[in-house]
Amino acid sequence: MPTPNHTPVPDYAAMLQVALAEARIGLSEGGIPIGAALFNRQGELISSGHNRRVQQNDPSIHGETDAFRRAGRQTSYRDLIMVTTLAPCWYCSGLVRQFGFRTVVVGESENFSGGIDWLRSIGVEIIDLASPDCITLLADYIRENPHIWNEDIGEPAP
Ligand SMILES: [Zn+2]
Repeated sequence: MPTPNHTPVPDYAAMLQVALAEARIGLSEGGIPIGAALFNRQGELISSGHNRRVQQNDPSIHGETDAFRRAGRQTSYRDLIMVTTLAPCWYCSGLVRQFGFRTVVVGESENFSGGIDWLRSIGVEIIDLASPDCITLLADYIRENPHIWNEDIGEPAP
């Protein structure tokens, strides 16, 4: 609904659903279920993507980097919102820092907290929705695929 007399609060939960749908696509492809999406402050979708490590044999394609690449060139990221089903890893936290995103919405940080404390420390707004859907989706995957998960986060095999 338009709210012309004051700044509308972005519907973060609705944004997360876009990232979560990407995560589920990734799972259906046999990949790691992590998705992400970029929105502008008006809540318009810029791009979305998901982790494709398994599908494309490419360790650099995380949910966040996939959404980032699919957004194409942007003159500024200050007013874009990064939405991801899981707290961004160090690699993706570096991306957030490098390009100046100021707001990151994370579906959860329970399975993995990545770099969110560091992002907060440099002034990035972190909105953690603690979504049970996100937590369960990834927890189930990690339990069934511990080696792939550890590979993705750069940890030794369990
Ligand atoms: Zn990452």
